[in-house]
Amino acid sequence: MPKVLVVEDNALNRKMLDRQLRHCGYDVLIATDGDKGVSIAIERQPDLIIMDTDLPVMDGWQAIKILKASTATLHIPVIALTTNAKSGNWKTALEAGCNDYDTKPIVLKRLLGKVNILLGVTSPSSTVSAPVSADILPSEQIEKVLSKIADSDIDEIFVPASTRSQTADRYLNDRYEVNQVLKNGPFGQVLLANDSKATTSESVIINSFNLPVDNPSLLTLVRETLTSEMSFLRVITRQDDIATCLDSFEEDDVFYWVQAYVEGNSLADELGSAQSMGHALQLTHSLLSSVHPFHQGKMVHCECYPSSFIRRQSDDRIVLVEYGLLKRLFVKLRSHSLDYRQALLKAHDYQSAEQRVGNPQLNSDIYSIGMIVLQSLTGQSPEWLLTTSRQKSLTDLVKADAKIVKLFERMINPNYHLRFESAGEALKALPLGLTPKKNTYHQAISS
Ligand code: MN
Repeated sequence: MPKVLVVEDNALNRKMLDRQLRHCGYDVLIATDGDKGVSIAIERQPDLIIMDTDLPVMDGWQAIKILKASTATLHIPVIALTTNAKSGNWKTALEAGCNDYDTKPIVLKRLLGKVNILLGVTSPSSTVSAPVSADILPSEQIEKVLSKIADSDIDEIFVPASTRSQTADRYLNDRYEVNQVLKNGPFGQVLLANDSKATTSESVIINSFNLPVDNPSLLTLVRETLTSEMSFLRVITRQDDIATCLDSFEEDDVFYWVQAYVEGNSLADELGSAQSMGHALQLTHSLLSSVHPFHQGKMVHCECYPSSFIRRQSDDRIVLVEYGLLKRLFVKLRSHSLDYRQALLKAHDYQSAEQRVGNPQLNSDIYSIGMIVLQSLTGQSPEWLLTTSRQKSLTDLVKADAKIVKLFERMINPNYHLRFESAGEALKALPLGLTPKKNTYHQAISS
């Protein structure tokens, strides 16, 4: 049951919030001043904090600053409660590191909606909070970009294209003949194409990204980010279990990156039925191995979902075909706009809490992989796993020896401080016989 810490000096408000939050199924912790709020947050690790900003001893803004400066608490989402007339607006709240804010007098339905969104209890689209007026945002344009994500009902940024689009049958960069639009999204497409300069007739996948606003400095930021992403991806994708990154180019302010096409079935298609422990451990090893080089480069993959992996037809191996590049780009764009975290809130079953509130860590990927593996092991959906794991321990769900159960527990612990730090750490903990294979990242950069 998620724990909500209410820091509020007004007894009436405190009582009302306590009652209503419990009614919604949350555990409630109470603090009456900023100082106590900070110490309770550190000690009890709530899942969310509602912080009044006018508080005795230490005011709410100061308390939030301390919470967001400490590694023990910076992952905990905070909603600031400000007094309408006085201090504070959205900009102040964002600068302090809040994930959302609301104004007094408290409008319960609205506030609870925000609580539910931040805790991933309801889908963002059904209870999206009041729009923020653009004039107080530092970058109206970034907000526009990000609001496109927030407005869409879909989990993923891209959706499969239902029909062959008109944009097929064209040449890109005088080289790639586009055959088919695989996915469409508000920011670009995923295309299947032939490389006319390749010696073999193998297909390639082309991803496109266009910033839907006209802003030279953002364009530069995207260009620089993609350039450094590409040099990184070209190195790590020499590893056999990641789709090879082949090329990148820019045409009319649209960015493209090209990767090898991998023939096979999505991992998502094989998760419906319960598999053996041997299979699950093998899968754990495969998924961790393909994410490992990202972590060695200190990059969070951000998109370790079943649809990001393909079981290659030729050798039955799991291959990572999604680089997570767009997600990382969005994280960057957002931090450029004073941490406009809320817009990237996309509830996803495989997402850890800290990633869900816009604070992805290396081991957010470990959480996602753990959920995939448990799904493979139990044949149950992540939604079922999450609900059930709140009532039962993992030992009851997974019939295995204590060491293996502990391994899975360390992968999916809701508190990321208690998870394996990175894929490399998790690989080391795998049973013997599944030891990490030699990795290409360090080899490749030193070669
Ligand atoms: Mn107060």
